[in-house]
Amino acid sequence: MSGKRTAVYPGVFDPVTLGHLDIIKRGAALFDHLVVAVASNPAKQSLFTPEQRLAMVREAASDIRGVTVDIYEGLTVEFVGRCGASVILRGLRQHSDFEYEYQLALTNRTLSGIETLFVMADEKAAYISSRLVREVASLGGDVSALVPPNVREALEEKLGSA
Ligand code: ADP
Repeated sequence: MSGKRTAVYPGVFDPVTLGHLDIIKRGAALFDHLVVAVASNPAKQSLFTPEQRLAMVREAASDIRGVTVDIYEGLTVEFVGRCGASVILRGLRQHSDFEYEYQLALTNRTLSGIETLFVMADEKAAYISSRLVREVASLGGDVSALVPPNVREALEEKLGSA
């Protein structure tokens, strides 16, 4: 453990997209160990259960070295502490992400001293959002250019049987 640099990439991942995977690859290249942390918030509605979201990220990221995927409830900074990490990784897309991310990063730093590191999304994946993926899939659209194959299948199964 000692000397290893660990970062935590938290998110809802409902579902994981090619944009998230781009950030995961960048994070894996920057740190010895990247923990992708799937947030489980029972008070918030999500299309997929936390366990389904975890399984989808795990499968999609299985070939990226140095990455583990976990699930957490409660404060992100507490989970980061339990991982022995001192950095939160987040992705930045457009200008519109900035305000929310700024508030979140400073709140987390005030709570714990943990810094948030931002990486810019790949320009080809920066427009992708889980919300629009859910919307397109629910209307029967083809999401294969937006999500990994296992997520496309899971969306078909979930929405096809709904
Ligand atoms: P949250 O609801 O916590 O923002 P998300 O799963 O939507 O959870 O996003 C997690 C992180 O991934 C955020 O930092 C978000 O900006 C980033 N992200 C989401 N989509 C993309 C994308 N297409 N490219 C790069 N980063 C992204």
